[in-house]
Amino acid sequence: MSTNKPEEEYFARLEAEKKRRLALLLDDEEQADKSRVLKELHFMHCGKCGNEMFTTQFRGVDIEVCPVCGSVLLDPGELQQLAGEDRSGTLDTIATLFGFRR
Ligand SMILES: [Zn+2]
Repeated sequence: MSTNKPEEEYFARLEAEKKRRLALLLDDEEQADKSRVLKELHFMHCGKCGNEMFTTQFRGVDIEVCPVCGSVLLDPGELQQLAGEDRSGTLDTIATLFGFRR
């Protein structure tokens, strides 16, 4: 049956590609499910002690604060907003240290 070999190889390659794409799709769905579960478990909870955080205003910016350990969580861009209000340059220095640029 050597006359069918190129055809068999062609279909084997198609099947392998189909399996590879299915595996990638399943990985994406699995990763999305995992991300959803993690968000449900950790949303608005302190990264240090796990207690529920509350939102308050600091210099006009909504920040999350842990009532137990005092940790503060800033959303993307909030550190830059606060640094813009800081005349001493301290927050600007911190933003630079963590690789954020205004
Ligand atoms: Zn905490």
